Amino acid sequence: MVTEGREQERISVLGIPSLGDRFAVFETMVKEHNISLVTPPVTKHTLSLGARYSPEFACLPFKGILGTFIECLEQGADTLFMVTSFNACRMGYYAKVQEQILRDLGYRFKFLRFHSSEKGLIGVLRAIKRFSNNASWPTVVSLFRLAVAKLRALDELEREVQKIRPVELEKGTADRLYREAIGAIDRATSFASLRQAMRGYFERLEQIPKDAEYAPLKVGIVGELYVVMEPFFNMNLEIELGKMGVEARRTRSTFFSEYTKWGTFLNALNDEKKELQKFAHPYLKRDVGGHGLESVGEKVRRAGDYDGIIHLAPFTCMPEVIAQNIMPFTKEGIPVLTIACDEQLGRAGMLTRVEAFVDLLERRRIGNILR
Ligand code: SF4
Repeated sequence: MVTEGREQERISVLGIPSLGDRFAVFETMVKEHNISLVTPPVTKHTLSLGARYSPEFACLPFKGILGTFIECLEQGADTLFMVTSFNACRMGYYAKVQEQILRDLGYRFKFLRFHSSEKGLIGVLRAIKRFSNNASWPTVVSLFRLAVAKLRALDELEREVQKIRPVELEKGTADRLYREAIGAIDRATSFASLRQAMRGYFERLEQIPKDAEYAPLKVGIVGELYVVMEPFFNMNLEIELGKMGVEARRTRSTFFSEYTKWGTFLNALNDEKKELQKFAHPYLKRDVGGHGLESVGEKVRRAGDYDGIIHLAPFTCMPEVIAQNIMPFTKEGIPVLTIACDEQLGRAGMLTRVEAFVDLLERRRIGNILR
């Protein structure tokens, strides 16, 4: 259910956490409804703002999102958007606490909260109705259809780029096209223009010179959603793996178009969660909040497909600490590198560990071939 804080009624400038560039694909669409979207990229400044006003025990996503909200408000946002949940972890009260901190700092704004239990079709439609200043239902449905098409285009493109990064001859080419494509998806105002733009980008991706002989290692990236998806916090891990010739894969829940597919209770990810629960069950019998269960389930499920797993866990994240302690002891013996993400994590330190891990995976693969 979308709930709202007090203060003014109409949305003029909506501020949302960035999660890479993903939400930039909606800028033009919402502008047509007289709403501007503010989604500032996360930087050191964002994090230092968030850390300055956060309780010291708060986990990294709380600080990052609070810092982003302050930047949104400073850039003129009159409305903020935050996802909340009944989760077993601290996530359940973060939106409330963030709202209170911002009001104590003297900001005036409307606060839209989207409850994660509402992520099925009906919940998303209701959310769009609120974000579009109560547009008529036909408008909401057409906005939804175009938004879904844009999300699918973005996700399909990203999945393709994940495959190309490790095999492209000139590193960075696929990512340059991907960034260009985000702008094209944003500018598309109809299904036809979106299809045409995508066809063009897929053709260009296909034409990128690649090493056809090379079989890259496959590494699954699991862990807390915000650090998995926000390149500032994971130091562009997927791009760095691509430069090392490794193909990165992520869980379905990190591709937002998956939330709009039909499945149990109008949410295909409920089926996915059940599936992961089955895999995690011998080691973890209940949901521990966040993506803890998903991390364990994904490790077990992908043991035969991936060469290794990189597990990203915000420092003090309870669900991921639980997962971290279980993963080394599953009988599915696939290597796992856990990286605790916090304000102190440095790029050089992180990359050194990732390089050493990739080295280990290469030797392991050679060992398996020779055996
Ligand atoms: S999942 Fe972890 S990082 Fe996210 S709110 Fe919960 S405890 Fe914090």
